[in-house]
Amino acid sequence: MHPHLLSVDDLSRDDIERILGRAESFAEVSGREIKKVPTLRGRTVINLFYEASTRTQSSFELAAKRLSADLITLKAAGSAVDKGESLKDTVQTLSAYDPAAIVIRSPHAGAAGLVARWTSAAVINAGDGKHEHPTQALLDLYTLKRRAGSLEGLKVWIVGDVLHSRVARSNILAFMRMGCAVTVCGPPTLIPRGIESLGCEVRYTLDELGSADVVYALRMQRERMTGSFVPSLREYAARYQIDGKRLGTNQLLMHPGPVNRGVELAAEVIDSPQALIAEQVESGVVVRMAVLYELLAGRGAPSDVREGAETEPQPA
Ligand code: ASP
Repeated sequence: MHPHLLSVDDLSRDDIERILGRAESFAEVSGREIKKVPTLRGRTVINLFYEASTRTQSSFELAAKRLSADLITLKAAGSAVDKGESLKDTVQTLSAYDPAAIVIRSPHAGAAGLVARWTSAAVINAGDGKHEHPTQALLDLYTLKRRAGSLEGLKVWIVGDVLHSRVARSNILAFMRMGCAVTVCGPPTLIPRGIESLGCEVRYTLDELGSADVVYALRMQRERMTGSFVPSLREYAARYQIDGKRLGTNQLLMHPGPVNRGVELAAEVIDSPQALIAEQVESGVVVRMAVLYELLAGRGAPSDVREGAETEPQPA
């Protein structure tokens, strides 16, 4: 496998299958009373969060702790970044601790790729601007596979603000790599021109939504919108909101969170049995454990950790 996880493009189908399988074995650990394995004991993981996050940050923290790594979490607020320290200086400073992995969330597309040039640690992209969010895509695959049994041939509609969404980009690549057929749908102003070149189809209305097995709704990314992309959120909701009338009883519903209730999703579907939203959050921990394991357990690791790679996780 690639030494870093910057994009879903770094992963082959085999890599993805292996990570999902590994996550399954960690799910068993998460069911125990003591949810910890010694795999990364003595190794340091640094979480560098330059942008707000609830799910991604907390699940990476839990993942590192459950693998027994030493963990440092730095947020831009409260760190020397506030004093104007550049990303490069921060990474070089933190490299003094000899981290095994740096997990980075940044508002800037390409930030994770830059960090990978400045450190010998494995770098995991936890969301870089509008670019990618590969661990979100992996946990979505994991969640969907658990519910649907198989991913091959599933028809997935990704609906909403595709233009500003790193989740959309990573998920189009990931769903397609696993054999799903992907359609993106939204107002023309929120669908990037040329997106078909990724291999997906494009629709500008929900008229054919009934053909989907899975509806993956995106958050309206108001903080990333510089102009006016839709006349109003009310108008957006009238045409594109997934509600109880539009979502069929056999269709599954996903959303990466946080949800704008009443905008992209109506309250009645958020809490419906078809919604996988809570399971997506739950899957975040085991999938991120699996990613840390994949990147670190075979890479410059002490021999006991390498041996661990071949065996099932043991309780700490
Ligand atoms: N939580 C996801 C992200 O960080 C989705 C979103 O914010 O809309 O990209």
